Amino acid sequence: MLILIINSGSSSLKYQVRDTSQDSVLTEGLIERIGESEVADHAQALDQVEQELGRILGDQTLDAVGHRVVHGGERFGEPVLVNNEITRAIERLNPLAPLHNPANVLGIRAITRKWPNLPQVAVFDTAFHKTMPEHAWRYAIPDELYRKYGIRRYGFHGTSHEYVSRQAAKLLGIGAGDFNGIVAHLGNGASITAVSGGKSIDTSMGFTPLEGLVMGTRSGDIDPSILLFLAREGYSTEDLDQLLNRNSGLKGMTGTNDMRSTQEAADDGDEQAAIALKVAAYRLAKYIGAYHVAVNGAQALVFTAGIGENAWQFRESVVEQLGVLGISLDDAANRKKSSDPREISTEGSSIPVLVIPTDEEAAIAEATAAVVQNHQ
Ligand code: ADP
Repeated sequence: MLILIINSGSSSLKYQVRDTSQDSVLTEGLIERIGESEVADHAQALDQVEQELGRILGDQTLDAVGHRVVHGGERFGEPVLVNNEITRAIERLNPLAPLHNPANVLGIRAITRKWPNLPQVAVFDTAFHKTMPEHAWRYAIPDELYRKYGIRRYGFHGTSHEYVSRQAAKLLGIGAGDFNGIVAHLGNGASITAVSGGKSIDTSMGFTPLEGLVMGTRSGDIDPSILLFLAREGYSTEDLDQLLNRNSGLKGMTGTNDMRSTQEAADDGDEQAAIALKVAAYRLAKYIGAYHVAVNGAQALVFTAGIGENAWQFRESVVEQLGVLGISLDDAANRKKSSDPREISTEGSSIPVLVIPTDEEAAIAEATAAVVQNHQ
């Protein structure tokens, strides 16, 4: 099937066209500064996409559109075929993901107007985590806040965690449903998931994508009282939002959100960069210890996304701390550059450490094709 994958942000639209029968990418692109440039809105951005598709596809036609939707709330645990009711349900989740879901809805509506007969599928970033048990998703705050506002852990990066778990199972030669492991998705945003029997049972991102690991610009876990303290010092909610989501993490500690530059700076003797990397690696090592317990003994530890797939120094400094678990890296395998799924641990390591390149677009395309085929 020919699938158009849309990742619609508030001022950007990322797209890819894939042929799922060959698992190939026909074209891809990114339209930025929507609303600020000659591209006035998402509908105009789609006009551009349509022109590009005309050039590439000739007389072939699209079979479906798959949307990356950030928040599926408590309702969506699976990809769904979009109709008006589903679109409104996604829109009702806007308060939970104010930057993302409105943009996703704009993308869906723009496609509906342009190609009313083309099936659309929503694939949710939260869906994989819907299997978390209540003791993992509950915060220890009054139940009223959950009932009134839906405050609970949702988790994100689900499409990637699920895809990578399946690929890891394949590499280990077991069924996806037999996989017990720990998956660390380390990109600009970063999260780690405890996977048991192929299902998410805990994950480090929470009510929003701010909780958990040290990220490019996000703090991850901090004492919530810091916010109260700063509020009393005169910080507004907007200031705090900027601080924790955009000016913290690696950027807050070193001035750059980029792992490669941070590593280069540390290699050149920059102490701020070195301590930032240590904070990030230590945080991740602690989560790995915790999730080893959560899954009752992981069968594998998996690294993925930009940092997980490429930053061998960072992997090394994380796994160095896991000696007590008997996990060790093969230095040459860890340093080797490759874009293949691979094992990087020693023969004697208690469990394999894997690097599995993530491919969220491939996962969205597959999920979209499956949903559309089920409805035919
Ligand atoms: P996003 O969340 O934006 O999709 P990516 O998964 O692309 O992010 O990851 C971006 C991060 O990966 C950046 O911090 C970048 O520095 C890091 N990265 C990419 N390539 C390398 C590399 N060769 N070595 C170290 N870090 C890398």
